[in-house]
Amino acid sequence: MIDGFPFAAARGELHGTSAVAGFGRLQDLLNSPEGELEYWVQGTTDDQGRPALRLKAKGSLQLTCQRCLGALEFPLEVDSTLVLARNEAEIEAQPVEPDGPDRIVGGKEMAVGALLEDEILLAIPFAPRHGHCSGTDGRKGEDKASPFADLRGLLKRGGRAGN
Ligand SMILES: [Zn+2]
Repeated sequence: MIDGFPFAAARGELHGTSAVAGFGRLQDLLNSPEGELEYWVQGTTDDQGRPALRLKAKGSLQLTCQRCLGALEFPLEVDSTLVLARNEAEIEAQPVEPDGPDRIVGGKEMAVGALLEDEILLAIPFAPRHGHCSGTDGRKGEDKASPFADLRGLLKRGGRAGN
């Protein structure tokens, strides 16, 4: 837990390691909960001088390849800046910056672990696959071919009907 605004103003810094198994919301996405992540939380200001938290995490996660369902080592690297606001109204009152930093409401008891976990979840690919998957799913691929062929036929028919 950190007290957001004083932490940012004092340019506070937290650094440590945390077991991957300790991040509850991550577990469903993992092939194995092995390993540790190194993390940093720094109090800072963004380029407009607003108080902010910089969250960094580094380590490797054991994800599941969505093609062969084998373990896939994913090199995690998170580096995000969250700009603090006093309340929701302050966030809503400012124009949306599509490429700007994310904004969160700062508080006296901000759970750093949950903030880090949010950023880690955002960094994980939606459907991870091995770059050169040597999965033995050749058979499954053939099985999957027929429904696709049917679908293609349906789309063609649909197209013709539309014309
Ligand atoms: Zn694979």
